[in-house]
Amino acid sequence: MPIGLLGGTFDPPHVGHLALGECARVQFRLDRVCFMPAGDPWRKAGRGVTAATHRLAMTNLAIAGNPHFFLDEREIERIGPTYTVDTLRELHAEGMDDLILILGSDALADMPAWREPDVIAALARPAVAPKGGDAGEQAWLAAQVGLDTPPLVIDMPPVPVSSTLVRQRVRAGKAVRYLVPEAVEAYIREHGLYR
Ligand code: ATP
Repeated sequence: MPIGLLGGTFDPPHVGHLALGECARVQFRLDRVCFMPAGDPWRKAGRGVTAATHRLAMTNLAIAGNPHFFLDEREIERIGPTYTVDTLRELHAEGMDDLILILGSDALADMPAWREPDVIAALARPAVAPKGGDAGEQAWLAAQVGLDTPPLVIDMPPVPVSSTLVRQRVRAGKAVRYLVPEAVEAYIREHGLYR
């Protein structure tokens, strides 16, 4: 059975990530979904990213209730920038060659700027969830950002939550309960993150 890979910064993980992973898992009958926090997210170099230990701990808490969700720490452990293509090559070398790369539409839009996007798409079939769900986005999705094979489309209702929104709300003293799992909300509070 194929394995789903859900990479991200997870700063912090939120209900959008969980719904994304679960919708993809059920739709594509995935054996498991591996959440892969990025070590040094080079595509977000413009802003300070929370320490990997916090992002790892929060991701662990977020996925705890789902027996099909796993944490893969390999990108955190790697020294230097993490490139998806390196991770996929590693997984193939370990015998994991039936892979589905789970992406939000913004991540798919970003993919042409990643290292060796064609190789990425050859090593793991991209599956994309429309993030906004509006007509413009659907049309754009159809253009498939120049991939040879169109990405699979994940049937997921729009969940208009992002890590950016959660960070902004915490900073502004607004509620984030139910936008992130309860254990993640408690972790953010206990560690004074995003203040
Ligand atoms: P930020 O706001 O900091 O850019 P983010 O909320 O997009 O973060 P990431 O960790 O960068 O979170 O996302 C990991 C993956 O999850 C990406 O493929 C992203 O497109 C996808 N994703 C994030 N939020 C959602 C959502 N609400 N619905 C669908 N996909 C999402």
